[in-house]
Amino acid sequence: MERLKAASRNATIRQLAVEFLKNNDIYAPLDVVGIAHLFGAHIYFGNLPLSVDGFTLSLKDGDFLIGINSFQPETRRRFTICHEYSHIALSHNKIADPVIEEIDREADVFAAELLMPSGLIRHLVEKFQFTAAALSYYFRVSKPAIEIKLKELNLDAERNIKVAV
Ligand SMILES: [Zn+2]
Repeated sequence: MERLKAASRNATIRQLAVEFLKNNDIYAPLDVVGIAHLFGAHIYFGNLPLSVDGFTLSLKDGDFLIGINSFQPETRRRFTICHEYSHIALSHNKIADPVIEEIDREADVFAAELLMPSGLIRHLVEKFQFTAAALSYYFRVSKPAIEIKLKELNLDAERNIKVAV
């Protein structure tokens, strides 16, 4: 029952991400920093402790300051920026007593859909035989991130080896 609830919540969150991309005419690969204004966000890259990927602060004027650890590799920084956008888009900042793990999972679902739109991935794998490596290169995401996504979509990109990167 709990799992079912989480599954339908995830589907709703993915749908929100799909609509966000469509309404703003955004295409892959995502220009993560270029869409900051759509979330009222300002991004600051800094030398944060290694244990911190990123964070979001609400500013007095209603905008947000997103801090990103510049030590992290590019693919991770891209995911973290989208993760922080997700907290803004899903109004997590307005939750008075947040259940951190749960809202972080939700933020990951939204972020993954922004960076790796399910419909497009399915199309690239089924129609153009993209491999996981090719998808990772195309979407500028890490290989583990694309592998999780493929698993969620029940796609086996490794059987298709027509595209090699
Ligand atoms: Zn988070």
